[in-house]
Amino acid sequence: MRFASSIFQNKSFLVPEGISIIENGTYYPISHFAVFEPQPIDHSYIPSHELLTFLNGRHLLIDEIPFPLEQLHDHYMNGYLQIEAGIQLISSKHTCLRCGNSEAFGFYPCARCKCSNCRYCRKCIKMGRVSSCSPLYFSPASSLTYPPTLLNWNGELSHGQNKASDQVKLAIQKNERLLVWAVCGSGKTEVLFKGLEQAIYENKTICIATPRTDVVLELLPRLRKAFPTIAISGLYGGSDDPLSPFIISTTHQLIRYKDCFDVMIIDEVDAFPYEYDPSLQYAVDKARKNNGALVYLTATPSRKILKQVKDNALPYVRIPVRYHGYPLPAPKFTWVGNWRKHIRKGKLPSVLLKWIEQQFHEKKPVMLFVPSIKLAERIHSLFEEVQVDCETVHSEDADRVEKVMRFRNRNYRLLLTTTILERGVTIENVSIGVLGAEADIFTESSLVQIAGRAGRSEKYPEGEVALFHYGKTNDMLLAFRHIKSMNVEADNRGWLKGKGVYGVKK
Ligand SMILES: [Zn+2]
Ligand SMILES: [Zn+2]
Repeated sequence: MRFASSIFQNKSFLVPEGISIIENGTYYPISHFAVFEPQPIDHSYIPSHELLTFLNGRHLLIDEIPFPLEQLHDHYMNGYLQIEAGIQLISSKHTCLRCGNSEAFGFYPCARCKCSNCRYCRKCIKMGRVSSCSPLYFSPASSLTYPPTLLNWNGELSHGQNKASDQVKLAIQKNERLLVWAVCGSGKTEVLFKGLEQAIYENKTICIATPRTDVVLELLPRLRKAFPTIAISGLYGGSDDPLSPFIISTTHQLIRYKDCFDVMIIDEVDAFPYEYDPSLQYAVDKARKNNGALVYLTATPSRKILKQVKDNALPYVRIPVRYHGYPLPAPKFTWVGNWRKHIRKGKLPSVLLKWIEQQFHEKKPVMLFVPSIKLAERIHSLFEEVQVDCETVHSEDADRVEKVMRFRNRNYRLLLTTTILERGVTIENVSIGVLGAEADIFTESSLVQIAGRAGRSEKYPEGEVALFHYGKTNDMLLAFRHIKSMNVEADNRGWLKGKGVYGVKK
């Protein structure tokens, strides 16, 4: 390979032939140039984590590096990798810098440097030819690989987050398993930051897996913002990010991996379809290295996971309080009689209508959860009859994201939905209703998640959660107790603001 040297802003550097930024440059084999200083690191440049991990500690010929020349040159120019001539004069002896040989050389007509007798090392020829015109690429110390601070986040962790954050970091360092049981709105993503930073410094491969594409799309920008110098790839059906050692992926996509990740974090571990699909659990297990760390994140652990906790088989840390310190809104139960019969007759339960009017009066938008898509559509038309502006969002709805955005922007006040929106949605000052809370689909964890949509913002922490039912179920009562016990735990630890309100009764 031939290079030209150039000077720009008092920096002298090498440019490989084939990169057309030097006009009329004169190119020579790399050994033509005297020893040159590496370029200083430019911390504003975002290097490829994938490239750096590949090259870290290695000493390679260009043919051994599966990255384009342009990209290598960019990293060289910004100080993230170095180049040296493979054969150099050391104590006036030609020496191969790869194997140290200074005796056995051969000569050949070389197409790369267009020299009729290019010198090459015969000692290490079996591992690919090092010749006078071969640059060796390297990215030596790990201090060179990463800036001293990776994490770009200045927020403050709550008491609960702080404790969990320490435990996550420890689990990642020691390659252990951990359940982070964090209430809805506790800020569980921030709890990962310190542990992730540690993992990156240790050159560990990381996967944050979640059953839902929506969550991948929500997490990607937040983590890229938190780690601006690290390449993070998003993997979901239809994504085309290049692979990197830090991915955020749907559990589906992990089928393509085996023994890959040192750190596996499963967000929303109890969410559909992961919880019900053994092949996804198999894929996640297969993708993780055998001795890798495994962190589960959820507000509502499944019975299976809780059993492991109970048997002391899974260490856990609980965050019983939201990041803003106010208690979780506990659901209120309202009996509405045989509401299905009413709907069939074309009438909405009057208690429900009155409650919705009250919320609108208080300038609160309403999310109303119903048991099925079919019911949502039927109820939608009944609301239109009484001139309530509303939209319906369900799992087969292509305009889901746009409709939720319009709701968030207050373009309409009533959002009808199924359990599809039980997670991941944050709407300021929203009131939450469930019609038919006794339906089988509204399990304890589903109701806890749904209630978790209310009171999420610090500005309006007192959310309203109303369960309209035709007979209380065990799951409804369990959900109520679940929420209440978290509030009591937070209160006992002294982490709660607004003592004795909504849900906490001693
Ligand atoms: Zn050559
Ligand atoms: Zn050699």
